Amino acid sequence: MNRCSKCVLPGSTPNIVFDKDGVCNYCNSYKKFEYTGETKLRELLDSQKRTGSKYDCVMGLSGGRDSSYALLKLVKDYNMKVLAVNYENPFTDPRAKINIENAIDILGIDVVRFKLKNRIHERTFKHNLMSWLRKPSPATIPMLCIACKTILSGIIKYSKKYNINCVITGGNPYEDTSFKKELLNVSRDQDHELSFITSLYGIVRETMKNPSYYHPMCIPTIVKGYLYGNPYAIGPRFFASDKTFIDLFHYIPWKEEEVESRLKAELGWDYPHKFKSSWRFDCKIGHLKDFLYMKTLNMTEKDDLYAKMVREGLISRERALLRLSDENQIYYDEIQQVLNQVGIKDKSILDR
Ligand SMILES: [Zn+2]
Repeated sequence: MNRCSKCVLPGSTPNIVFDKDGVCNYCNSYKKFEYTGETKLRELLDSQKRTGSKYDCVMGLSGGRDSSYALLKLVKDYNMKVLAVNYENPFTDPRAKINIENAIDILGIDVVRFKLKNRIHERTFKHNLMSWLRKPSPATIPMLCIACKTILSGIIKYSKKYNINCVITGGNPYEDTSFKKELLNVSRDQDHELSFITSLYGIVRETMKNPSYYHPMCIPTIVKGYLYGNPYAIGPRFFASDKTFIDLFHYIPWKEEEVESRLKAELGWDYPHKFKSSWRFDCKIGHLKDFLYMKTLNMTEKDDLYAKMVREGLISRERALLRLSDENQIYYDEIQQVLNQVGIKDKSILDR
């Protein structure tokens, strides 16, 4: 497989072009991530501390790597009183549930849990997978996860219920997958606020090519997902404009080794080692998405993540290549479980 000589992106990445030295346009237009800094973060968090109130902030907890680490940092390093909100995703890996229990026990924090009504997650997922199969396109693979795009609205609901002003998110900045933006014609260097609007326009345009996505059963979830897809989306800005949203890893560096070692040592956190990677194991749909990206683009989101980590100097290119050959595997048994769970009997989806 031919890959960029500087990062690791493969020649199958959407809209990739290599220069005479074999360096890709993603590398050539890359701007290193600039952290706002811990001093600013501490100031901001201190300003949210409320003496006499039970909680200073609220955050979503999935049991995966980044949200668990964000929680650990908030409680232990920044002394915040956190209310954790766990969306009970029906496709959660069992290990993620153990991680949540361990974290709340060890840190001694409160957690509230919520589900979506009427099995809407399972139903929108199944419907969107069937729609996708009618017209496979890498640009619309994220539609499988539309239900999870509504979680922020649940978190905001709890912030209002418990009168908490501050909402923390903890995704790492390198997860913002560039190739997916490219599929939606979103410029790679656009800022978060603007790229939300252009991504939204892009996803509407792509899904309109396959209108079966817009089934009446799915429309409320789609609308809510579009409104609450991230803290920069329309929903948080208009319906929670009095809240302060803090993206933790926009302030302080996200260092993978530190994340993993602290989680293991301090929270008894772990991941199923058969997956070889601790990233995004918490939802089983991730395995299906890997399969579909592999099928349509011959790459996964990990190619993009590791390419960014190479550009940021967080990992060597050689190490990234090794990890990709080790970690980019398809877990058919996990995908099969997901299909069984939603009653899809047609096994031809998994034709290899
Ligand atoms: Zn490159």
